[in-house]
Formats: sequence, structure tokens, C-alpha cells
Amino acid sequence: MPHDTPLIATLVGAFVLAFVFGALAQRLRLSPLVGYLLAGVMAGPFTPGFVADQHIAVELAEVGIILLMFGVGLHFSLRDLLSVKAIAVPGAVLQIGVATLMGMGLAYAMGWSLGGGIVFGLALSVASTVVLLRALQERRMIESEQGRIAVGWLIVEDLAMVLALVLLPAVSGALGGKSVEVGAAGAWFGPMDVWTTLGVTLGKVAGFVIFMLVIGRRVIPLVMHWVAHVGSRELFRLAVLAIALGVAFGSAKLFGVSFALGAFFAGMVLSESPLSHRAAEETLPLRDAFAVLFFVSVGMLVDPTIILTNPLPLLATLAIVLVGKSLAAYLLVRVFGYSKLTAFTISASLAQIGEFSFILVALGVSLELLPKEGRDLILAAAIFSIVANPFFFLILDRFRTKVAAKAAKAVDQPAEPVPVPTLPVTEKSDHTVIVGYGRVGRLVADGLKAAGLPLLVIEDQEDRVEELRASGFEVIDANAASPAAITAANVEGAKRLILAIPDGFEASGVLKKARAVNPQIEIIARAHTDAEVDRLRQTGANFIIMGEREVARGMLGHVLKEEEEASPTVAGPTPPPEAGSVVAEAGPETAPEATGAAPDAQRSDTAADA
Ligand code: AMP
Repeated sequence: MPHDTPLIATLVGAFVLAFVFGALAQRLRLSPLVGYLLAGVMAGPFTPGFVADQHIAVELAEVGIILLMFGVGLHFSLRDLLSVKAIAVPGAVLQIGVATLMGMGLAYAMGWSLGGGIVFGLALSVASTVVLLRALQERRMIESEQGRIAVGWLIVEDLAMVLALVLLPAVSGALGGKSVEVGAAGAWFGPMDVWTTLGVTLGKVAGFVIFMLVIGRRVIPLVMHWVAHVGSRELFRLAVLAIALGVAFGSAKLFGVSFALGAFFAGMVLSESPLSHRAAEETLPLRDAFAVLFFVSVGMLVDPTIILTNPLPLLATLAIVLVGKSLAAYLLVRVFGYSKLTAFTISASLAQIGEFSFILVALGVSLELLPKEGRDLILAAAIFSIVANPFFFLILDRFRTKVAAKAAKAVDQPAEPVPVPTLPVTEKSDHTVIVGYGRVGRLVADGLKAAGLPLLVIEDQEDRVEELRASGFEVIDANAASPAAITAANVEGAKRLILAIPDGFEASGVLKKARAVNPQIEIIARAHTDAEVDRLRQTGANFIIMGEREVARGMLGHVLKEEEEASPTVAGPTPPPEAGSVVAEAGPETAPEATGAAPDAQRSDTAADA
């Protein structure tokens, strides 16, 4: 029966096996990725039992890639993309060059042709979109500077692969492979030489970008706004899917760019719209499910016997992917003057290979450039490097925590000549220092000012600093993690420090510095995850407010109060449960003060958000 319905059989088989093995991996405290890959090996043709359709599985995985890249595009403006071009373009190009050379070296050692070496090297040089984005998303790093560089890097790699895929057939004959009549642009242009192919491809990519920026940028948000006003949730969801998949597919067909690139641009032209958040949410469940299929499809392609038949070449291939490539990326990013953390993030992100490599090797084998053995090596290296990738990120996480405080200062500013600004020291003492004047800090600062308490604000975003000055606040225009800011704010002589920034790890870096100069100061911090709460508690915060719990508390309190007013006999004065704000050593009187402002605060919070 499954033969009649290969799509359903593959979809169901992949989801069920991925779930079973993913859950098993979770139980064994392994990354679920290992489970998904294993599920793929199980569903693949090299193991007995159920065999899913490889082509269908790969296509389904492509849907996951489209939705992932669309989601990333939604968080990316053109400005963000351009802001990283100075590092992403030369970085990616050089890294591809270095990795390709390493791959060619290995291919030479194995006695393959030059063409085989080039395909092999290129396949080793490009990272998998899915693996990279998932790792960054898990850590909410996409929107950080490091995340942006990594995504920019990915886009450049993607473009390079688009070029490689159209150029390979054109040069195949010259490299000792099969000569093909090249018509990258189909029958329009007839047979073309390499330069024409290159020119036409670049022209089409440029045409695509211009089309998206000029027409897509106007039409897509317009359509979305219209649908949003129609008020049908279902239609909105459909619109998001239709745009993401439609643009990806259309641009691949019309302009010859990859699905991923098409989807990224579709997301990017929507990113400035206030609807982008909703659009992102609507695609989340599908995106996650299909991204899992990606890992299953990788597992399916791998012939596990390669470990026994070719252990040494496999080790060498892995060494290039895991060590050679990441080292090259690390050095490149450092040479461009970025911090160790950024360099580490990029190299951890790139220490794996995936879908592009598969497409390349498939083409290489069909052009008779690459021996079949090369394809098996690449596939096996992909599975191992994907399994290994979470460990790289684990090390990165450790490193991130360690440099959290330092990072805030050095984060990704290329070494500009603006270091150590000597800031004028405040005359205030016994005052409150607020760090961050965003959605949270703003309400706290305004409240304290209204109450007539002495305070000052540390803020590093220029427009906010100006706003603060205009409203008559004393501001220290600096990153709170810098020693200069701590001194200028006279933390040593302050009564209280309020860390109103969203990143709890960064806040704990500031906290440590403040504690070092003033052991008595009362420190109130903001957190969004349990890990941040733990970290802040360890570093000595007196009072930690976890945003999500307070929101829940506010909602519950509101409902209970409403119910009580409606029928006073029913509820009685049930106070909302203690939502878990953590008090480490603080006097209890700080609690009501801090949470008392919550209902109002939340209301304006949402207003400011929208
Ligand atoms: P929100 O998440 O809306 O509450 O905004 C947080 C605010 O804190 C923003 O205005 C940021 O510019 C500011 N901010 C974040 N980190 C720091 C830091 N290390 N030093 C100073 N200001 C910061």
C-alpha cells in the first residue's frame, strides 16, 4: 500500500520515526538532532525495514529550509544585511576559498581529478542553513550582531553556491568530466560559454534583488495589511504561507536563485511591517516540523558502511569540516577586527556541512567529476558534523557566559578608535542607578522621578540617550558593562542598581562589576528565563523579576479582580499567587514596591511595544 502513496508514507514515516528517536535522544540527554538523523538512517535504503522515498524526503526538507529562511528574513531589514557586508562578503568568500583548497588537497592525496577536487572542496566549504539557523535560534542569537554576521555569511555562501551550480556544468568538460551543452538559462540563450553563463546568472540574481526591492517591497506588505484587516486568521495564515512558498518557488524558477534566497528576501521585504511578528508566529509550527524532516532526509542519504570501508579519508574530511574550516573562519573574523566571541560564534556556526553540499556532490557525480566515494564521504561527514555541532555551541555558551560582561563592550565593534571614553562622574550619591531605558527601564525611571527619588540612567543607544536628556534625566551615555560607566554612575556611592536590560547574562556581567565596587548596594534585576534567574542569583542579585511570570501575575490578578467585583461572594479576596520573583537576600519590603507598579507598567508596556 505505501507504494501507492509515497508522499504520505514518507511524511508519516519520517515524522513518526523522528518523534520516536528524537524522544529517545532527549531521554538519553543527547541532542534531539542525533535522534532525527538516526531516524533518517532507519528510514533509509541502507538499513532493513521501512524505506521512505528519498526524493520526496529531500523535497519536503526543502520546505523546511524555505520557512526557516523566510523567518530569518522577517527579522532582517535591508539595513541589517548591508551593515554586515564588510565582514560577510570578504569573510565568506575567503573562507570558501580556504576550505575548497583544503578539500582539493585531500582529493589530490586520494588521487582524484582536479574537477573532483574542486567539487569536493566546494562541498566542504558551505555550511547548512538549517543547522546554523537552528543553533542560533535556540539561543535567540539571530538578532544579535553575531547572528547577523552569521546570516550575512550564509547568504554570501548561498549566492556562491548558486554560481557554482550553474558554472560547474559549463566547465565540466575542461575539468575532465562530462561535457555538457550548457544552457543555464534554458532554451533562451542556447549553448553558452563560461563567461556568458556567469554573466547571465549574475544578471538574474541582480534582477531578482531589484525586483524584490522595488516591486516586492511594495506589493507584499500591502497584501499582508489587506489580509490582516479582513480579520480572518485562516486567510492571514494562508497569505503568509503563500508569500513565503510562492516567492521562494517563483524566484527559483524565474531568476534561478535558490529557494532559500527567495524565501529570505520575501521575509526581508516584510520585516519592516508591523505584521512581521505575527507572520513569523504563524509559520512557526510548520517550520519546526519541516526542519526536522531536513535532518531525517540527511540521515536517509547516508550509507553507514563508509565508516568501515573508508575510515581514514572520512577522518580527514571531518578534520577539514570541524577543524580546518572553523579555524579559518575564526582567524578571518579576528583579522577583520571583531571580538573573540564573534569569531567563535561564526566558526561554531560554520563547522558543519549540509544541504548545499549534497546538491553539489549530486551534480558532481552526475557530471562524472566526482567519484561516488566522494559523495559518500561528504554525506557521512555531514551527519557527523551535524551531530558534533551542538558540542561546539555548548563550548560557545560557556565562553559567552564568561565574556558576557566584557562582550557587551567589545561586542562586535570592529576596532574603532573610540575606546575608553572618560566620562564625567556624577555628583549624586545614595541614588538609584537604572541600566537601560527601554520598555522596562523607562517606566521605572519615570516612576522614580515622579516620586522625587534621586536617580540616573545608563543607556547606550543614542536616540534613547537624547530622549532622556530632553526629559531632564541625568544620563550616562555608555555601555553599563564598561568600567567607565560604573565609575561615572558612582555605583560605589549608590543605594540601588536596577538592571532593566533584557539579557540576563549581560546583566549579570554588569552586576558583578557593581558588586565589586559596592558590596552593600541593593541590586534589582530583570530576567526572562530560569537560566538567567539562576545566573543572576549566583552573581548576587537581591531581587530578580522574571518578566513572563509578572505578566502572568498581572493577567491573573486582573481576571480575579474582575470576577470578584462581578460576584463578591464567590471569590473573596484571593490574592494572585506569588509568581516567583526571586528574593535572594533582600528585605521583603522591596517586593511590594517593585511589583506594585506592575499593572500600570504592563499596560503601558504593551502600548509601547505596539
Ligand atoms: P527594553 O528591552 O525595551 O527594555 O530595552 C532595553 C534598553 O536597554 C535599550 O534601550 C538598550 O539600549 C539598553 N541597554 C541594553 N544593554 C545595555 C547596556 N549593557 N548598557 C546600557 N544600556 C543597555
